Amino acid sequence: MRPPTVTFLGGVREIGGNKILVEDGPDRVLFDFGPAFSHRIEEYYVDFLQPRSTSLAKDLLEFDLLPRMSGLYAKEALGDADLAYAPPEVHAVFVSHAHADHVGYLRILDPEIPVHVGEGTKTLLDAIATSTAMKYGDHPWRVFRDATPVRVGRIEVVPYPVDHSIPFAYGFLVRTSEGTLAYTGDFRHHGPRAADTHRFFAAVADEGVNALVIEGTRAGLDRRRNLTEDGVRTGVDRLLDGHSELALACTYPRDVDRLTTLHSAALAAGRELVVSVRTAHLLSQVAPRFPSGTVPVPGSPGLRVYARRKRTTYLWERPHLDGALTAEEVRARGRQYLLALDLAHFPELIDLRPPRGSPYIHSMSEPFSEDDVSEQVMHNWLHHFGLVFHQMHASGHASAAELLNLIRSTGARTVYPIHTEHPEAFAPAGPTVRSPELGRTYPIPGA
Ligand SMILES: [Zn+2]
Repeated sequence: MRPPTVTFLGGVREIGGNKILVEDGPDRVLFDFGPAFSHRIEEYYVDFLQPRSTSLAKDLLEFDLLPRMSGLYAKEALGDADLAYAPPEVHAVFVSHAHADHVGYLRILDPEIPVHVGEGTKTLLDAIATSTAMKYGDHPWRVFRDATPVRVGRIEVVPYPVDHSIPFAYGFLVRTSEGTLAYTGDFRHHGPRAADTHRFFAAVADEGVNALVIEGTRAGLDRRRNLTEDGVRTGVDRLLDGHSELALACTYPRDVDRLTTLHSAALAAGRELVVSVRTAHLLSQVAPRFPSGTVPVPGSPGLRVYARRKRTTYLWERPHLDGALTAEEVRARGRQYLLALDLAHFPELIDLRPPRGSPYIHSMSEPFSEDDVSEQVMHNWLHHFGLVFHQMHASGHASAAELLNLIRSTGARTVYPIHTEHPEAFAPAGPTVRSPELGRTYPIPGA
């Protein structure tokens, strides 16, 4: 019989879109299933020109933007695509974390395939599905526990929490009947859960893995300025100290660490952090999974909700609208608030009219390319309102130098860089590095 194998069906020479298939005899397990931030997709689908939600798999398969694999997709998502429907031939999907590039296509998978997630990730997915247009489909959801093995036929998967810019992120040890593979998911070790990342890599080193599948978002050209989470806090403290107008900030919507950092900075400066109704919903759902009082929820001291004017109010929004602030209230008492405002909600600035010179904290990574349209649009708005741009961000990913050190610490026999546009930047890690090819299968031999 052929040895256990790993096949890379996505995340190859692109950021996101990891789709990693591990096979051992008849048993097949898939890790992550979302869209890449990829030029490949943007050759066909961009902005308003998107695959139809009624035939997502068919529309993506048309341009080979999904693996052409039978026994994987839902009948409904395939429709009359040229890939015929077949009953499930994949026995489990494991999710590393709740970012869209890892879970965004779960809804087109056959609804009979069990999806394994961390408990906190399930809470996040439910909160996102309730409060946005994102859906994940019906599946038998299986919740795994930290460091507790899950068996799927001959394959044993052990989930280890890691530090990332969304809580409840995992790396996995994947034991087969011969060798073991480690898959890092997305990770860093300069955030509040750095110790988790260190524990995972210690487990990988102890195991003596044959294959290390490691993300490399920041490998290669990384001109973005990166702070630690504590560094962001210091920067925001300093900025709030020197200003007496409304302060604005923009973060990734699921970056609970950053929202917590902004909240404590606001409190320390005698201000309140004002968040959107959607963020209030997310915080209220995830907070019980953190030590009591560490994640602010509506009603906590120093956290307020901003009510945009809307035509309809959804049921999930209602509990957060009592005592919510209007644009007029924020405008009248700007110096009391630090307002978290998404790019999509910039028209609120037309009502808020912050005094010229007010600070705008961009607490996200800088864009990947110079020609990013939304980057230019953001600056047009800031310029129009005379807001002063400050970049303060702690990345969700380890730096290139950190990646090389971690790789050495594992002693892995073969290293597969994925989730990166620059696999060649891993070359300094030595001859064990093998840049995978899309769709190609590699053995996981024993010792
Ligand atoms: Zn990712």
